[in-house]
Amino acid sequence: MADEEVKTYTGHCLCREVNFIARGLSDIWYCHCTQCQHMTGHCVAAAGARRADFSYEGNVRWSPVSAGTRSGHCASCSSYLFWDQIDRATISILAGNLDDTAGLVLKGHIFVAEKKDYFEISDGLPQYEKWPPEGTRQEG
Ligand SMILES: [Zn+2]
Ligand SMILES: [Zn+2]
Repeated sequence: MADEEVKTYTGHCLCREVNFIARGLSDIWYCHCTQCQHMTGHCVAAAGARRADFSYEGNVRWSPVSAGTRSGHCASCSSYLFWDQIDRATISILAGNLDDTAGLVLKGHIFVAEKKDYFEISDGLPQYEKWPPEGTRQEG
């Protein structure tokens, strides 16, 4: 296959106790869901990594978010690193923790139906009430 074309991405938490690596990432989506609002105070920008192509080292504290989902935070500095829906093929990597995002593109906004009214989305990217249609998301 085209293994040599797959870029490896690295990242870390604020205090650098947690380091992660992902071989290939999907593009980045903004998520405006209620969960993300509470977890971050605003919205999330995240890319997806296939589970088999993703690993981390360091002490990650996993917290249940809702049935079947959990969030991963550095146990020392609390950086919000990962969001994991157990039955999905990919795990979400919060983009702010990546070292180098070259090659990643912002694809659009999801869960816009839950967005608060204090700001407008004006970047012209596609907006979806919930998940985008199948095939719009690139799973790595
Ligand atoms: Zn940390
Ligand atoms: Zn969300």
